[in-house]
Amino acid sequence: MKRKLAAGNWKMNGTTASLAEVKSLVSGHAAPSVDILICPPATLIAQAAGICSKSPIMIGAQDCHAAPSGAHTGDLSAPMLADAGAGAVILGHSERRENHNETSDMVAQKAMAAHAAGLIAVVCLGESLAQREGAHTLDVIAEQLAGSLPDGATGANTVLAYEPIWAIGSGLTPTLAQIGEVHDFIRSLLGERFGAQAAQDFRLLYGGSVKPGNAAEIFATSNVDGALVGGASLKSSDFSPIIRALEA
Ligand code: PEP
Repeated sequence: MKRKLAAGNWKMNGTTASLAEVKSLVSGHAAPSVDILICPPATLIAQAAGICSKSPIMIGAQDCHAAPSGAHTGDLSAPMLADAGAGAVILGHSERRENHNETSDMVAQKAMAAHAAGLIAVVCLGESLAQREGAHTLDVIAEQLAGSLPDGATGANTVLAYEPIWAIGSGLTPTLAQIGEVHDFIRSLLGERFGAQAAQDFRLLYGGSVKPGNAAEIFATSNVDGALVGGASLKSSDFSPIIRALEA
């Protein structure tokens, strides 16, 4: 039985003072019935992982390089992140696709690097508002999914996050029917590629303006196995009720 997953993406937010939020999550969720992942900035991974060393909460990163080492100033490799205590890495977030020109092929290369280092790859997919309004959402999702997932992806080493770009940080969310349509579509595409049985093992997260107030209805939607949460993961007082909604 796959466990649901509540994942937090702190983005470029947080200093050592923010580790108090990790401590609060550790004490508030000693034996969660869902998996919990917090992805702070890379500067905090080692300390956050230390805080979580006796907790089921996993610490993750927000990106990695496709190579294990080398002349890539400013980059971090998957083995380095694993060495710092990360157990997962977010890949292909729309902010990286947009701000760093990351293509689906680059995301697939990074996912292979993550898998080789023993990290779970949290691969993000999502359409822009123009693509949604132009009725291209499913085409975009199909292209991103096909291009971003390496052949070695399994439900154990890979999580998918559907994050409509226009819903991220905007306070806007798709209708539950729209979320369900895309999640059902992703599950069917996984089935075509990996087989129906294996497709069921992948966790499909929804991301985009998930808050304590809308989490429960999103989690009740077809093929939603959890959430990737940005802004509302920064404070344990916001993230905890989202985790509890997933546990309900
Ligand atoms: C995100 O960027 O992954 C995200 C889902 O952000 P927010 O929850 O703030 O919309």
